[in-house]
Amino acid sequence: MVPRFGPARRAVRRFMPGERLSEALDAAAQIEEGGAGVVLSHLGEDLDDPDGVEEVVQEYLHALERIAGEGLEVEISVKLSQLGLSLDPEICRAALGRLAENAARTGAYLWIDMERSCDVDATLELFGGILRGHGPAGVCLQAYLHRTPQDIDRLLDARFHRGTPPGIRLVKGAYQEPPEVALQDRSAIDGRFEELARRLLVRRADLPGLRLALGTHDEHLIQQFRGDVSTVGASPRDQAVEFHLLYGIRTDLQSDLMRSETPLRIFINYGAAWYPWYVRRLAERPANLLLLARALLPGGADAKG
Ligand SMILES: Cc1cc2nc3c(=O)[nH]c(=O)nc-3n(C[C@H](O)[C@H](O)[C@H](O)COP(=O)(O)OP(=O)(O)OC[C@H]3O[C@@H](n4cnc5c(N)ncnc54)[C@H](O)[C@@H]3O)c2cc1C
Repeated sequence: MVPRFGPARRAVRRFMPGERLSEALDAAAQIEEGGAGVVLSHLGEDLDDPDGVEEVVQEYLHALERIAGEGLEVEISVKLSQLGLSLDPEICRAALGRLAENAARTGAYLWIDMERSCDVDATLELFGGILRGHGPAGVCLQAYLHRTPQDIDRLLDARFHRGTPPGIRLVKGAYQEPPEVALQDRSAIDGRFEELARRLLVRRADLPGLRLALGTHDEHLIQQFRGDVSTVGASPRDQAVEFHLLYGIRTDLQSDLMRSETPLRIFINYGAAWYPWYVRRLAERPANLLLLARALLPGGADAKG
């Protein structure tokens, strides 16, 4: 019911330019004009019917054609639960393979989001297949998981990537996980993030194709690593480190990074299935609940803040 409720729809606009692909691409074009890149993701998760998965694949194929047709350098990021991971890993593998093939054909870089901890093994296994079979691609790793240091070692092992170093987007982690699986304390998570980012930067010295994106709005962490940016090649993808921030969050920091020409990509979500994703954004910052409450009051149409 919530996604059909007008004030809630207006409140979510703080975090996404719109539900439609055209709205997301208009925002992407503006961001590119301003000097940053974009990663685009079609919202949705936990699909458990093959027709739904096919619709998602068609949506991404259409998006890839539009991105190429409009001359944008937009990258895409997919959730495997949206491609049927819990339905049947083989359906997911086939869907991901089609997206990777078309992304490679149209020149768009493909990222894979990381979801719940129970899906990490399957996600990394499918990611490895894409990397080895279709060329450059990236995956998200969550600093809060106890297992992530080992996952980094596994991804950087030559037997895993076989000459195509992965892209890694390091984030803190957005899902509720138990203490046996993930760090719970915010400062411990921040410390782990910093430690893993440093480790990745060091490993990058021996593995130049490794792409390292820090997905965070944490100004302290961003300042820590801003100084590590250095162009080692002509392409923006050759930067030692780049920053990825979500559309609408810390726009002041986004402008500052753009002005200083720090390698930056804005992650834009679009689509009608925004509810579970929006709830995670609310949970990350209690002040967002106040903004939502204000939007729900009579006359409180504008939830920007
Ligand atoms: C590009 C990108 C991709 C991501 N992909 C994934 C993924 O695949 N899997 C996954 O588990 N998680 C993903 N995340 C979410 C991530 O795990 C964190 O939950 C989220 O980024 C909040 O953590 P933070 O690093 O910004 O630090 P925090 O310490 O949570 O926040 C730092 C500051 O950023 C601002 N801020 C952060 N979140 C919000 C918010 N929701 N609303 C308003 N202000 C906010 C506040 O000013 C806050 O003080 C992604 C995040 C980004 C930026």
